[in-house]
Amino acid sequence: MIKKVDHIGIAVKSLEDTLPFYTEVLRLPLLGIEEVASQQVRVAFLKAGETKLELLEPTSSASPIAKYIEKRGEGIHHVALGVESIEERILEMKEKGIKMIDELPRLGAGGAHIAFMHPKSATGVLYELCEKKGLKK
Ligand code: ZN
Repeated sequence: MIKKVDHIGIAVKSLEDTLPFYTEVLRLPLLGIEEVASQQVRVAFLKAGETKLELLEPTSSASPIAKYIEKRGEGIHHVALGVESIEERILEMKEKGIKMIDELPRLGAGGAHIAFMHPKSATGVLYELCEKKGLKK
């Protein structure tokens, strides 16, 4: 069911302040920056070999990422698992008694279809199911 870890999401207060660590210290290529208005975040994707790092910067204090940073500080926010047929995977998770934050896929960064599982039914980790429909990789 899981093809690979598509990316790891990292909550940051400021992309400008944190990007130099990733691009200059770690020398990871910056794939792009985009705003996801529905989540009130600005997102930077960095290529880390076969997977990616997704830096998430809140664009308002009402953003879920702003609330996360307020509570737990900056750091790892979620792990995204690359899947196919995301609607079927969501149904499968629900059949297995897993609570989904998103019962239907929604649009994430890069046009991916995404759905978050509830950490309470996923060993304390916020997992994102992620499908790149009709996109390269
Ligand atoms: Zn993500």
